[in-house]
Formats: sequence, C-alpha cells, structure tokens
Amino acid sequence: VRVLLTGGSGFVAAHVLDVLLKRGHSVVTTVRSQAKADLLKSLHPDVGKDRLDFAFVEDIAMEDAFDEAVKSDPPFEAVIHTASPYHFRAKDIQKELLDPAVIGTTGILKSIKKSAPTVKRVVITTSFAAMVDSSKGYWPEHTYSDDDWNPTTHEEALKNAAAGYRASKTFAEKAAWDFLEKEKPGFTITTLAPPLVLGPIIPSLQSLETVNTSNERTRDLLQGKMKEKYSPTGSYIFADVRDLSILHVLSIEKEEAANQRFFVCNGPFSNKELADMIRAKFPEYADKLPGDGIPGGDYPAGGIYKTDASKAEKVFGIKWTTFEQSTVDAVNALKAAGA
Ligand code: NDP
Repeated sequence: VRVLLTGGSGFVAAHVLDVLLKRGHSVVTTVRSQAKADLLKSLHPDVGKDRLDFAFVEDIAMEDAFDEAVKSDPPFEAVIHTASPYHFRAKDIQKELLDPAVIGTTGILKSIKKSAPTVKRVVITTSFAAMVDSSKGYWPEHTYSDDDWNPTTHEEALKNAAAGYRASKTFAEKAAWDFLEKEKPGFTITTLAPPLVLGPIIPSLQSLETVNTSNERTRDLLQGKMKEKYSPTGSYIFADVRDLSILHVLSIEKEEAANQRFFVCNGPFSNKELADMIRAKFPEYADKLPGDGIPGGDYPAGGIYKTDASKAEKVFGIKWTTFEQSTVDAVNALKAAGA
C-alpha cells in the first residue's frame, strides 16, 4: 500500500515507519527539515526512493499545510497522521498545542478529500488524554475503555500546559470524527488511543537531551534525577511503542479496523515498579535510582482506574509486550544514547 505518514521523525512515527517498510508498504513521510529526512534515510540505507521518500511540512498548524504532501505518484491509498505537539513547555496554549493538533488534523483530512481521492484509510494517533476525565481523579471504581471521552472545555484547556495537551488531543480527535460525519469523505478513519508510550528510542534519531516527553521519566531515573523524589506520574498505565506501531499499520490493513476507535493499553505501572525493574535488570544504575521509601513511587493508596483494551485485542489479535520487556529495551536504547 502507498502510505503518507506524518511526522516521521517522532518517537512513535519512526517505529511506525519501520513496521511499514518491513511489511512491504511504500511510504512518503513528512518531516520539518532536510536534516531529519537525511537521518531517517540513514536508518533505512537499503530502501529505495520508490519505497521511502520525504515531503516537507514545516508547520501543521497552517490551514493548507498538507495540500502538496497528499499528492503523490503513484497516488496514496492510506494516510497515518501522528504529527502533533506532545510537550508541556507551551506558553501560548492555543498557538503551540491546540492549533497544531486540531488544524493539523482537520487540515490533512480536508487536503485528502480535496486532492487525494484514492485514499481509502486514515489512521490518527489520538491519546488516553482524549479519554481521561481528570476531574474524577484516580477513579478506582471506573474502567476506561474505547467509549470514554475527556469532557474538557476550551476554557479549562487554557489553564496550564498539561490540560492544554490533553485538550489538544481531545479536540483534534473529535474534529476528525465530526469531519467524517459531516463531510462523508471517501475514506474511513481509525483512531488509536495510547496512554504513556514507553519502549526503545532510536538512538541516532533522539539524543538524551532531546528525548521525547514520554521517555523523560526513564531517562531521569537513569540519570539520578529522581533519587530523592519521584516526579509525579501523569498516568499509571502505559503502551509499548512497538505494539502501538504495529496497530497503526494493521489499522490500514484490516477491514474491521475501519471507523473504529481503539484504546491501546499494555497495562499498569508505577514509578517504583519502573525503578525496581531497572535495578533488577541493570544493577549498574543502582546508585542513581531512588531507594525504598522515596515519596511518589507507589500507586495511590485508594487505588486507580482499571482499563479495558479488549477491542484492540479482539480486532488485531495483539499480544501486549510485557512491562519488563518494554523497560529492558528502553534502558538499552537510552544506554546506547549515552545514559
Ligand atoms: P514526538 O514529539 O516524538 O513526535 C511528534 C511529531 O510531531 C514530530 O515528528 C514533530 O516534528 C511533529 N510535530 C509537532 N508539532 C508540529 C508542527 N507544528 N508542525 C509539524 N510537525 C510537528 O512525540 P511522540 O512520537 O511521542 O508522539 C506522536 C503522537 O503520539 C502524537 O500525536 C502524540 O500526541 C501521540 N501520543 C504520544 C504518547 C506518548 O506517550 N509518546 C501518548 C499518547 C499519544 P519535529 O520532530 O520536527 O518536532
């Protein structure tokens, strides 16, 4: 299948690209710079231009950002949209988080409808952030599933960067489903909603300093930054980046995935479990890791929400990577990057 992948240099997208190429698809991926295109190309030296090519999209928040990228010869049959800001640095939440997420999503859908009529499948990376209801706290009596929606408002979104990020994913995904309903385009949509994505970075793509947001936790542990105090866990559940990537690709391959939303969740984890796993598997980091009794490591005393990702298990037949495997591979990759 001829696929357009957005944001190919991202943590998740670089793995999606890997899976696409391994499964024989032909890919054009958008990047923001020639340097990132060159880096990605260097990871796949044996793949020709016919199977891996690049399109430059500098800012997905521009209304017509994807107008040219969606055109290709041979034409695209599927689009995987992962590009979206994921960080908590935003000063201007509207401009730095909400606009690129929402306009990025509606923009690419409009461009496909206008200029790429051969596209039949669109897959969008959404997030547990678009499912979680923060006002309910840890909500131990609740089980999160594909049916849950974050009820956040635009006013709440502007309060701080974390709320802004969660809202950006919520509004972007809602806008995608609204588009499908109102515009009745010639393609289906599949959305994938992972919580914190863990697992190996690709060391030549990411340095320790610029590691993406979800890997900061493991990096900080390895660097001794949490020795005295764990930083708060945003969520107590994770998805492995390889599992998530395979599901992106299966979503364009499997008919049953069309027009479905999938919660993608491997299971629970706590900061302390992460530290203990690293200590058990990589004793060389023992000095850097928080010991017993350091605050902020455990699950909340009253318990946390449960999760139900059984729809993804049924439709895709996925066997989730274990927390142990995910952690071991993540630490090995961070080690290779210099940790
Ligand atoms: P990264 O930060 O590694 O990747 C984000 C990608 O989006 C990069 O390619 C980045 O380009 C691109 N991007 C961001 N803003 C813009 C913009 N304004 N214009 C053009 N490109 C832009 O994050 P992840 O790989 O972790 O995230 C990928 C997707 O997965 C996102 O949609 C994110 O919301 C979602 N997700 C991630 C989770 C996680 O824990 N990692 C959890 C749940 C969902 P550049 O590299 O040039 O900055």
